[in-house]
Amino acid sequence: MPETFRRKTPTVLIGNVRIGSDAPVVVQSMTNTDTADVASTVEQVAALHRAGSEIVRVTVNNDDAAKAVPHVVEALAKRDIHVPIVGDFHYNGHQLLKKYPECARALAKYRINPGNCSIGRKDDENFRTMIECAVENQKPVRIGVNWGSLDQALLTRMMDENAKLAQPREARDVMIEAMLVSALDSAAAAERYGLRHDQIILSAKVSGVHDLIDVYRMLAARCDYALHLGLTEAGMGMKGIVASTAGLTPLLLAGIGDTIRVSLTPKPNGDRTEEVLTAQQILQSLGIRSFTPQVTACPGCGRTTSTFFQELAQQIQGHVRESMPVWREKYPGVEELKLAVMGCVVNGPGESKHANIGISLPGTFEDPVAPVYVDGRLLLTLRGDHIVQEFTKILDEYVQTRYGASQPQELASTR
Ligand code: SF4
Repeated sequence: MPETFRRKTPTVLIGNVRIGSDAPVVVQSMTNTDTADVASTVEQVAALHRAGSEIVRVTVNNDDAAKAVPHVVEALAKRDIHVPIVGDFHYNGHQLLKKYPECARALAKYRINPGNCSIGRKDDENFRTMIECAVENQKPVRIGVNWGSLDQALLTRMMDENAKLAQPREARDVMIEAMLVSALDSAAAAERYGLRHDQIILSAKVSGVHDLIDVYRMLAARCDYALHLGLTEAGMGMKGIVASTAGLTPLLLAGIGDTIRVSLTPKPNGDRTEEVLTAQQILQSLGIRSFTPQVTACPGCGRTTSTFFQELAQQIQGHVRESMPVWREKYPGVEELKLAVMGCVVNGPGESKHANIGISLPGTFEDPVAPVYVDGRLLLTLRGDHIVQEFTKILDEYVQTRYGASQPQELASTR
């Protein structure tokens, strides 16, 4: 991993997970089950955690959800799952945290949206009540501002003040400034009400890539709180993945961001863990963290007219994914492994030499042979109908010898 500059922050402890300072950038996610449905929520938290989510947030929106939270945490513990569970509160968090102290105790962190916890009030008593619960239970808090639920009284006041200026600023700039003021003033209030500086994480989420980059750059410049990054309402599928990557990349490369969430909209009954895998892939592609072996595959072209090359790439990727739960336990460091599956000899051998293991398949009209490179050297040449099985065997042996408990050995050079 390359050395990357990280903005200095305090370390915030969320259950057993450290955020900020020199801790790795943490991947988190959020359930979309009804939290009151304990069985479904436990299943989804377990799936998200299995996929690599290091913190999981759940909605706590009513009495039934608040009552369910301790049962969710307990059921997870019985399955030996100790991922920190964060409660997401809006509008009535002050009531729920007071009314259900077991919920307040069971959660590892509270997410408070300052834009909607004091609607209709002239004071911030609801916010204060939530912070006092956090102080009493010694829980950290994320002050999560979202442009879709920005404090309207604050925004209106700032817009009015702006309109009176000789040279008013763009409405977009005032909105961004209002988000910063909301986050920073709320954090200052939380500290006045007893929360420690190192118990506060800030976020300021927007759904536009340029806005996201601007708001977080400004936030990072104005405080040293740990920051939770994410493009809100990123959207479905490719759009959400690309927009999130585009928004998070410049920030992460500038050392801004201590925990990330990718807010993808799943397809109906789709796999919620996609947001976790996307977050991991962003961090791994940027060289910030490693989670799983990476398979470099060429896109294919007119030189690979059969589907064999795509099938091989898919099978190798599938084999790695299926093996990872066991590999992760048995072979520490295996997540750094690099594989190359290339379609022909044009770039195949070159790319293979840069990987730990690489295979270069025969393109159309080339000899039906597939040279395999291990640690930059030609190990052997596969041919025939069992290239996939033989390559998979070489891969498994490499993982065992390179990452197993025994001393590293070289693979036999002849087979
Ligand atoms: S490596 Fe060969 S098959 Fe793959 S894209 Fe390049 S030329 Fe095409």
